[in-house]
Amino acid sequence: MDLSFLTHTWWGSLIVIVIAGHITIMCTSLYLHRSLTHGSVVFSPIAAFPMRVWLWLFTGMSAKQWVAVHRKHHAFVDTANDPHSPVIEGWARILFLGVVYYRRAYGDSETIAKYAKGIKDDFFEKYIFVPLKYGGPVLLYFIVAQIFGYLPGLFVWTGLVLWVPFWAAGVVNGLGHTVGYRNFQVEDASTNILPFGILLSGEELHNNHHKLPSSAKFSVKWYEFDMGWFYISVLRFLHLAKLRTV
Ligand SMILES: [Zn+2]
Ligand SMILES: [Zn+2]
Repeated sequence: MDLSFLTHTWWGSLIVIVIAGHITIMCTSLYLHRSLTHGSVVFSPIAAFPMRVWLWLFTGMSAKQWVAVHRKHHAFVDTANDPHSPVIEGWARILFLGVVYYRRAYGDSETIAKYAKGIKDDFFEKYIFVPLKYGGPVLLYFIVAQIFGYLPGLFVWTGLVLWVPFWAAGVVNGLGHTVGYRNFQVEDASTNILPFGILLSGEELHNNHHKLPSSAKFSVKWYEFDMGWFYISVLRFLHLAKLRTV
C-alpha cells in the first residue's frame, strides 16, 4: 500500500497529526488521569512505559505536576481556588489560555507538595523525563523533520505538540464546565461535552467523571461511548491492566 500521501500532501499530514494527537490524549487520559491521579486502573509496565515515553516526546509534561494540578481541580472545582475554572475565569480564557493557567498552577511548589503525594519518581522520571523535559519535544522535532523535511516538519511538529494544550487544557477544562448536557446535578458546573467520547478518548464525558472520579469508566448511559474505556478493556483482555474500582 502506498502511504506516501501521509508525508507528501497537506491533508495526509493532517491525518498524521489527528491520529498522533489522539494517541497523546489517550496516554494522558489513561496513564496520567485515570491511573496516576485517581488510581482507578493500574497498568503493567509493558503498557505504561510506552505511554510515558510518548507523553515525554509529545508534551514534555511532568507526571507529578499534571497529577497535582488535576487533583487540586477536583478539590476546589469551580471555586476561586480551582486552577482553571471557566465559571470563575470565563470559558474563552480557559479554552484559549488553558495552558497558561495550567503552568501557573504547577509553578506553585505548595500545590505539588500537597497534591502529588504518593507519586514516586523512578529512574526515568528522575534522570530523563523531568530534567530533560524539553528534550522530548526537541527529539520529536528531529524525528518529524527526517520524515517530513525541516520546514514542513515544523508545521507538523507544531500541530503535534499543541494538541494537549488546546484539546485537554482548553477544550476539556474550558468547555467541559460550560457546554453540553449533565447526567448528574453535582455541585460544580461540569458537563458532558458530547455523548461520544472518541476524539478526546472519553474525556468529553466530564460531568460523569466529576460525579464518579474513582471510576475508570467514564460512560454511564447506554448511548454514551468512552474510547478510553475501550482501550482499557483491550489492555485488560491482554492482562496489561487491572481495575482498582469500577
Ligand atoms: Zn473538571
Ligand atoms: Zn479527574
